Amino acid sequence: MNFDDYRGVWVFIEEKDGAIAPVSLELLGAGRQLAEKRKTALAGVIIGENVGDLAQSAFEYGADVAYVYDDPIFRHYRTETFMKAMLACVQKHKPEILLYGATSTGKDLASAVATDLPTGLTADTTQLDVEEDTGLLLASRPAFGGNIMATILCKKYRPQMATVRPKVMKALPCEKGRSGEIIQESIPLVESDVRTKVLEIVRATEKRVKIDEADIVVAGGKGLGGPQGFQLVHRLADVLGAAVGGSRDVVEAGWIGHHHQVGQTGATVTPKIYFAIGISGAIQHIVGMQNSGLIIAVNKDPKAPIFGACHYGIVGDALEIVPLLIEGFKAA
Ligand code: FAD
Repeated sequence: MNFDDYRGVWVFIEEKDGAIAPVSLELLGAGRQLAEKRKTALAGVIIGENVGDLAQSAFEYGADVAYVYDDPIFRHYRTETFMKAMLACVQKHKPEILLYGATSTGKDLASAVATDLPTGLTADTTQLDVEEDTGLLLASRPAFGGNIMATILCKKYRPQMATVRPKVMKALPCEKGRSGEIIQESIPLVESDVRTKVLEIVRATEKRVKIDEADIVVAGGKGLGGPQGFQLVHRLADVLGAAVGGSRDVVEAGWIGHHHQVGQTGATVTPKIYFAIGISGAIQHIVGMQNSGLIIAVNKDPKAPIFGACHYGIVGDALEIVPLLIEGFKAA
């Protein structure tokens, strides 16, 4: 296979509240390292309406080039429109590597693009490297229930594509004023050609701290005994201004919704402080929280695996200890 035409590392830039989404900043950080190893440029692909400012921000976080599709047709994310823009960009400029955040948008877009190109897609990766001489992307992710790391290669197609979990890569510090090249792109697409219409956006009304953005996460497991015991987790989280997390078993039991699940099949979190209360510490849970700054576990079994993964451990009954923590933090 001759891939000489394919050059550069690209990141799909997601927008959130008028700025670059944190996961895309993280990917620019990871992409920068890959680009330097390959001695090539790092580019961001920006698709949206009035998104010109994001290009400058992308440069300040490591991009050399920004391909910008700025058109009202891209006001809302729609698979159809974004996929057409991304396909056109890839076919025209031929990147060697293309990364997306493993968010609902990133996963949707990446799989649609992979199907149409066609090329491979490694989903939900947690480690990235590149072979300096061949440009082969080494995209790794947990496999077989989190017991091994599998490194997946795409030898026959370009670009090599991966979605990357939020919070596992590190963004570079912002370099104010750093500049790059903006390449304005467009595709001949009119609204009447698009089959999906956005009729209304309904924002979630639930007032809660988002688990993957919180500084403190209080997570509970089956050890809390039931939904009533699990209320203690909510109360402790309220006192600390924390987000609430849960193990998969409590999510499956219906004590809390799926978007609170931490672990291999849930969210990866890296808060400053993580409380694991009545959680055994199965590997599938640990992979989702092990990079937290400070991990505090409460478990009545001194041999529970969570004690091998925490900084501070309290051996005892959570139903007695958590009320003491609540009172203690309230008084502090
Ligand atoms: P348990 O394992 O039942 O642990 C309960 C703990 O509470 C025990 O350690 C016990 O000693 C302690 N305890 C009991 N009573 C008390 C008390 N009164 N006070 C204090 N402690 C007490 N799990 C996840 O969490 N996230 C995932 O994303 C995930 N993905 C998975 C993917 C796959 C493919 C598979 C196979 C499994 C996955 N799991 C995941 C499930 C995982 O293997 C465990 O089953 C799960 O994490 C266990 O949840 P738990 O710790 O709440 O429950």
